[in-house]
Amino acid sequence: MDSFKRFLCILAISVLCIFLFTGCISSKSTSIITSSKDKMLVHYIDVGQGDSILIQVNNKNLLIDAGSKSSTVTSYLKKFGIKTLDYVIVTHPHDDHIGGMSSVISNFNIGHFYAPKKITNTNSFKNMVVSLNKIKLQITPAKAGEKLDMGKNIKCIIVAPNNDSYKETNNYSVVLRVSYINTNFLFTGDAETLSEEEILKKGYNIKADVLKLGHHGSNTSTSINFLNEVNPKVAVISCGKGNDYGHPHKETLTKLKDKNVILYRTDLDGTIILESDGNKITKR
Ligand SMILES: [Zn+2]
Repeated sequence: MDSFKRFLCILAISVLCIFLFTGCISSKSTSIITSSKDKMLVHYIDVGQGDSILIQVNNKNLLIDAGSKSSTVTSYLKKFGIKTLDYVIVTHPHDDHIGGMSSVISNFNIGHFYAPKKITNTNSFKNMVVSLNKIKLQITPAKAGEKLDMGKNIKCIIVAPNNDSYKETNNYSVVLRVSYINTNFLFTGDAETLSEEEILKKGYNIKADVLKLGHHGSNTSTSINFLNEVNPKVAVISCGKGNDYGHPHKETLTKLKDKNVILYRTDLDGTIILESDGNKITKR
């Protein structure tokens, strides 16, 4: 009897070991799938006060803006082994969005380079243009209705700017909606209420699970009509700790709280990476 008990005990331990072992294998292989195919990754890169977002899907890379410092975004992209950016989008030519762009242009192979038709007199802008000229890369003017090709299961559509000229440079901001199967993301640059109203008037589908708030959470953006139409579950604010502008503004935070939107902030959370499998979005 004793030896039978011993036999049962050994059998139980063996079954447990096999279970644990195969359990390990399957969780390992899941993580391999996660980091390569059938997922979209959206990196809201911590660039201090500014914007820079990397979207990776179907082995393609799309970069929106490049922060204010020359090296931050370049180092981040290199850390991920990136050599080619299939698309680069400049939302608008303010330093906190294009400061690092000259370095990006000089360090990566770029497929298409989109920017709104707006020229500025700053060094960042001049450096960006010089770098583009050096590699003979042309700017494709970004305007509403334009679609980008990021491969299967992806739809990328520019929904702003909807006009040729604005008093406020922020309103030239390229606004991009990215859909991956059943999940949707909206990227708004620094578009203010005027541009938001134009988007609503044009009737574009802007519903999104994740909204990158306009203008670093400033009260000049995220009007209640716009927020209601986007109806996000998650909001991301890209801003610097203790910035001079008081971003994000209290009014914006209250609107998000009232709608029970989950909020991530680069000033508090650092770089935020969201992963979509096409149906579910998770924070890495
Ligand atoms: Zn900005």
